[in-house]
Amino acid sequence: MIDHAFYRKTEEDGIRTMFDGSRKPDEVFNMVMENRSPLASIDQIETTNACNMKCVMCPRGKPNLMTRKVQAMGTELFHSLVDQIADTEREKDARDEGRATFLRDPPPSLVWPGSAYDVTGLRLHHFGSPTLDPKLLERVGYIKEHASFPVQFSDTIVNMQLDTARELFRLQLDRLIVCLDGTTAEDFERVRGVRVHSFDTMIQRMHDIVEAKSVLGTETKLDVQLIQMANAPEVSFVQDWGAVPGVHVHIKPFFPYPDVPHDLVTEGDTVFQHDCRIPLTSLTILSDGRVVPCNADYNGEHILGDTREQTLQQIWESERVIDFCRRFIHDLFERTNLCHRCGFYPYSSIGNTPLG
Ligand code: SF4
Repeated sequence: MIDHAFYRKTEEDGIRTMFDGSRKPDEVFNMVMENRSPLASIDQIETTNACNMKCVMCPRGKPNLMTRKVQAMGTELFHSLVDQIADTEREKDARDEGRATFLRDPPPSLVWPGSAYDVTGLRLHHFGSPTLDPKLLERVGYIKEHASFPVQFSDTIVNMQLDTARELFRLQLDRLIVCLDGTTAEDFERVRGVRVHSFDTMIQRMHDIVEAKSVLGTETKLDVQLIQMANAPEVSFVQDWGAVPGVHVHIKPFFPYPDVPHDLVTEGDTVFQHDCRIPLTSLTILSDGRVVPCNADYNGEHILGDTREQTLQQIWESERVIDFCRRFIHDLFERTNLCHRCGFYPYSSIGNTPLG
């Protein structure tokens, strides 16, 4: 979830120009603090940080820079987090700041294909492959039974088995994003760093998943994904999948993660350029329960709290989170800081250019 009420309140007041230099940092910080929701918004829970891919755009890929212990989140903690988020989302509904409000009148800055899921739902991924988590189905089932917010995640076609997809459809997972990343084994390897023995088998599996969705009559939104990066076969991918009923083509903008080359950004891609407001409007939870500001903190460099010892609401209100926002807005980070190594930071010293 993203604090979309914040966007609603500040859009007219210049959220688009927040970091363009026309305002003093103090002014921006005050605007954030005055308009930030008092209720926690959780964007992602990393159910596992296990991954078998070597993605070129990921610091956990090749080379793998992640030094955290590989582990799946404990069931008790996961249930507790879901319960807390469900309670908070009910409270947002009561205050007219919930999902229904977003769907009725979404702030223009938060409208993109699939944004209803991204903004008002929970994502079960961070720096791991959700299907490598043996408890994945139980977790989705728990959310569907105990919460009313949408749940989604993405995984590669290599990891997404047909049987698992069928179970996810039966559980009414809200959105399943399957990453094909191209039309050939070479395309897939260029992005994911892994050679697929028979890409035709993967394509057939994707068609079988689409058919299973149709047979089961599930409401799950099913996306096939291609990342928008240099040399991506966007035209042929759209041609291949655009006409297939029951599946949506999702062209995902390239995210300029820290510590990886950014020369794969396509010309004219302005989606992720120096625009980050993520830590101002949401938090992410690592598989060990610690809390980080965003989807890019792969090693837990900015630990803002620990859900094994604090509630999500306590963390959201904590001085540590407020202070992070202050330092983020005033650019008080060292040049070696994670944000400065990320192409999404408003004051990034590297930007969306090759790291060299
Ligand atoms: S700029 Fe900082 S907070 Fe924003 S995504 Fe990058 S690392 Fe995360």
